[in-house]
Amino acid sequence: MINQAVHTLNHYYGFSSFRPGQEEAIHSILNKNNTLMIMPTGGGKSLCYQIPSLVLDGTAIIISPLISLMNDQVEALNATDIPATYINSSLDGSEQQHRLNEMVNGNYKMVYVSPERFETPHFLNMLEKVDLSLIAFDEAHCISQWGHDFRPSYRSVVPSIKQLSQQPPTIALTATATQQVIHDIKNLLNIDSEHTVVTGFARENLKFKVIKGVNPNDYLNDFISTHLNDSGIIYTATRKTTDQIYETLKEKGIEVARYHAGMSKEQRQEAQAAFISDDVQVMVATNAFGMGIDKSNVRYVIHYALPKNIESYYQEAGRAGRDGVESECHLLFSPRDIQLQKFLIEQSELEEEQKRDEYQKLQDMIAYCHTTHCLQGYILDYFGDRQDFDQCGKCSNCLDDGHKEDMTKEAQMILSC
Ligand code: ADP
Ligand code: MG
Repeated sequence: MINQAVHTLNHYYGFSSFRPGQEEAIHSILNKNNTLMIMPTGGGKSLCYQIPSLVLDGTAIIISPLISLMNDQVEALNATDIPATYINSSLDGSEQQHRLNEMVNGNYKMVYVSPERFETPHFLNMLEKVDLSLIAFDEAHCISQWGHDFRPSYRSVVPSIKQLSQQPPTIALTATATQQVIHDIKNLLNIDSEHTVVTGFARENLKFKVIKGVNPNDYLNDFISTHLNDSGIIYTATRKTTDQIYETLKEKGIEVARYHAGMSKEQRQEAQAAFISDDVQVMVATNAFGMGIDKSNVRYVIHYALPKNIESYYQEAGRAGRDGVESECHLLFSPRDIQLQKFLIEQSELEEEQKRDEYQKLQDMIAYCHTTHCLQGYILDYFGDRQDFDQCGKCSNCLDDGHKEDMTKEAQMILSC
């Protein structure tokens, strides 16, 4: 069957070989094992459930957290004549029913659904009538309350699936998993360690840099004016800052788009499309932008302010250089940003224990900004993936070109946080 998988890779995707880990994960699922795939963003996780879906008889159900992500995947599959669809709340009732009927008739190889579908008995009844090839949990960290993007609805899919009369193999895929999250996913979905495929978290083409003690606007202006032909993302912590930077760059004549949750759906789609198709070079956005975006030539990701944790940071920064070409990931650090992140934790509706957990993650994020060791190495340590990695040789600490300054005051703030 693995030969069929290679054939499918060539035929439908036009790729000549698998990337590290892909073949192993595909092999595991084709042998009907519940499988966990941990691979960095841009590593190629989609193929790991799509190829088995194509090789096996029946229909695969893919659980996906975002409607836009489902649309993109289905569009890409349909473009190569693969019968796939999505069923989610963006469709009206009759269209949903139509697709459910087609699903039961076996007319799709892949059906993308939101986790909320499993809360409707009607969907579960229809699912009983489908010949299932596999069930995939894309962005599987959403299943774990230890994950940085926990969705209760994701977790509640699990008991529904366990009650199905058919028990097809399950594959869980994620880029961002701490040991705790991995443990949780494996327990919930009954995945053995021998069927857990971990490919390195190291992204050798990314140059990490922490910048301190500069005026962030001056820094941004300098950077962008020397990278006018490059595609890049600037992440900010608030909608207001996104708007401000957007306006400033626009006034300077830079082709720029913006994206945040305060904009209408149409505005967001338009901005995203302009960026993806290279009509604009720069995207200024909050963390609402990016999940599932497949743009390979992003040359830089600048964090204008401190992100809330390393998981978020690595996922966002990891959107640079998906094509393997050397790319920059800069973080502008100011101790003031710590207050905002603390405020957001305080304001959240998390339980006390989870808040403590978030504070700890914030501390680890701040520590990243202060470490004098290799930045890529620090991130790998954080994910427990440091084997065989010494130093990247290209981050601001390895090159010693970050801005050093007196840190006594900052250190005190960290201790009190
Ligand atoms: P992930 O979900 O891990 O972030 P994707 O599945 O979106 O990554 O894949 C990222 C990019 O890598 C896509 O453009 C995809 O076409 C490409 N890709 C995946 N596997 C291969 C492969 N074996 N050879 C070449 N390109 C690949
Ligand atoms: Mg993906």
